Amino acid sequence: MTKRLSNSDIAETIQRIKEKIAEAALRSGRKFEDIILLAATKTVPAHVINQTIKCGIKYIGENRVQEYLKKRDELELDNCRVHFIGHLQTNKVRQIVGKVDMIQSVDSVKLAHEIGKQSRKIGITTDILVEVNIGKESSKYGFYPDQLEQALYEISQIDGIKVKGLMTIPPICDKKEQSREFFFNMSKLFIDIKSKKLDNISMEILSMGMSGDYQEAILEGSNLVRLGSVIFGERKY
Ligand SMILES: *Cc1c(COP(=O)(O)O)cnc(C)c1O
Repeated sequence: MTKRLSNSDIAETIQRIKEKIAEAALRSGRKFEDIILLAATKTVPAHVINQTIKCGIKYIGENRVQEYLKKRDELELDNCRVHFIGHLQTNKVRQIVGKVDMIQSVDSVKLAHEIGKQSRKIGITTDILVEVNIGKESSKYGFYPDQLEQALYEISQIDGIKVKGLMTIPPICDKKEQSREFFFNMSKLFIDIKSKKLDNISMEILSMGMSGDYQEAILEGSNLVRLGSVIFGERKY
C-alpha cells in the first residue's frame, strides 16, 4: 500500500463506490441490493481487510492459495464470505476446498473434477463459477464462448460442486464502449444458458467488472463486481 489508510478513508471510499454501484444498478433497472460488491484483496494485509469488513464489506476475493492461507487466521470473517478468484492449479485444490465459500475461477474441466473430488472427501459441496475468456485472449484463462456449453454439460455431471454462474475478465480496453461490448456478449451468453435450464446448473451470478469498468459491467448485467485498486489504492507487489 502506498499510504496507510485510516478507517474513515476506507469508509468514505466504500460509500462513494456504493453510490456508483447504485446509480448503475438503477440505470439497468435494478437496485443496489441486487449487486454484490466483492473486495479483491490480493496483496492487502489482513488488518486492512478487517478494516474494510468493519466498513461493511461482505465479500472478499483472494487470488493466491498460499497468501490467503497465511492471512486467514487473522481475518475476521464472521460477517464476510471469501471467494477464490485467481487461477487455481489442480495440485493446490486440496488446500483451499472447505476454506472458501466459492471458487469463481474454474477454467478447465480437470480443475472442476479435482474440486469435486476434494469436496466429496470432506463431505461438502463447493459452489463454483465457470470462467469465460470472452475476448479469446491467449494470455487469459477460461473457456472460449463456443466451448462453454459443452464444458458446462461435463461439469454439471460432477458430484461435490454446484455451478452458480459465470465469471470473466475481459480484455483491457481504451474505450468504455469497447468494454461494454465484451460485457454485453458475456451477458448474452449468461442469459442464453440460463434460459436453457440445464440440469444441475443455476445461473445466479454473473461476475464481471473491476475498478476501471464496474459501472459499464453493471449496465450490461453484471451482478457481482470485483474491486481492488479503487478501494485499496494501487497494488505494490
Ligand atoms: C485483482 C483482481 C481484481 C481487481 O482488480 P482492480 O482492477 O484492482 O479492481 C478483480 N478480479 C480479479 C480476478 C483480480 O485478480
